[in-house]
Amino acid sequence: MKNIAILGSTGSIGTQTLDIVRANPDLRVVALAAGGSVDRMEAQVREFRPLIVGLWSEDAARELKSRLFDLPVRVVSGMDGLLEIATLPQSEVLVTAIVGMIGIRPTIAAIEAGKAIALANKETLVTAGHLIIPLAKRRNVPILPVDSEHSAIFQSLNGEPAGKISRILLTASGGPFRGWKKEQMRNVRPEDALKHPNWSMGRKITIDSATMVNKGLEVMEARWLFGVELPRIQVVVHPQSIIHSMVEYVDGAIIAQLGMPDMKLPIQYALFYPDRRPLAGKRVDFFALGQITFEKPDEEAFPGLALAYRALTVGGSMPTVYNAANERAVGLFLERKIGFLQIPELIEAAMNGHRVIENPSVEEILDAERWTDEMLDKEVLQ
Ligand code: NDP
Repeated sequence: MKNIAILGSTGSIGTQTLDIVRANPDLRVVALAAGGSVDRMEAQVREFRPLIVGLWSEDAARELKSRLFDLPVRVVSGMDGLLEIATLPQSEVLVTAIVGMIGIRPTIAAIEAGKAIALANKETLVTAGHLIIPLAKRRNVPILPVDSEHSAIFQSLNGEPAGKISRILLTASGGPFRGWKKEQMRNVRPEDALKHPNWSMGRKITIDSATMVNKGLEVMEARWLFGVELPRIQVVVHPQSIIHSMVEYVDGAIIAQLGMPDMKLPIQYALFYPDRRPLAGKRVDFFALGQITFEKPDEEAFPGLALAYRALTVGGSMPTVYNAANERAVGLFLERKIGFLQIPELIEAAMNGHRVIENPSVEEILDAERWTDEMLDKEVLQ
């Protein structure tokens, strides 16, 4: 029996993780957390019977607690609740399927408590990778990637020493606006950007895929997970999303992981690594597929990608500013307060105004996030 805790259990990755639990009776859910989804959380608690459940919103947690009066489950809220869930003594693995930088503190606390991390919450590594990866090494805690590209790289690296990597080839679908020029995207609405051609995901990451900021975040995530610097991480647009990423070795051999676009595979791989379990679902039919194609990313049409390279090259607190400005801008875009092209413009404005802090602590990372929000409020949005 493997005991798991899930942060973000009501979201896209969270619910797919629970599908895997349903199919594998030797997984047991001991803790669940989400933001404010009372109905969904009540249903999950009744089905999976965790020991503890958390909602970020205090009001929502109070409502949940009253609904669950008949069950012996502890209900918690806010950051203290997330920290308690992340460090629960009974759990072995923490699935970080929460969205955004809110995941930093619980992830660090879980590593300190010796939990293995199945990491979907890429924003945490992007902003605090320099703290999290060395900490996980010191505590001998595995960080198992859930992001499909990083899982593909992890699978392609299996058994090979990292020193033999020549390049990481990170594939990208190109999103719904692949092949468009910048001007064509000026009047894109949230409902247009939320239509991803290959993957069904949460709203924030779907918008990030449309701007290609997601690929920028993934480049940074790969840098921390695999210890490979930027010039050796190359983004390759591959519209069919069948090759999930590749590793080129020093002898020129390229090892790739292929499969249907289905997040259950990387989630399951992270939960059972190094074991492989059966997984129902469609299989790749190469004859039906016919061909797979590759393109260079268009950095002019998608400046969010080039800005990510710049943030990673500058380092320190700059990736935090890149990420925080994006989180804010995506929220504003979904509320129809800014246009699609303003997302990378706001990221760039925040980056241009930021004085970099080298090797930031958690507090300094969270300060940089606050600074970014205030900067965007005061100087750009008024
Ligand atoms: P969703 O938006 O679908 O779900 C987000 C989850 O986080 C929900 O359960 C939400 O709860 C919860 N949440 C939000 N805010 C808080 C908070 N303050 N405290 C506690 N819980 C909170 O996101 P995804 O599942 O798409 O993405 C999750 C992470 O995984 C992101 O970092 C994303 O980049 C990454 N990822 C996602 C992939 C995908 O296929 N979806 C692929 C690869 C990576 P509530 O429902 O109550 O709001």
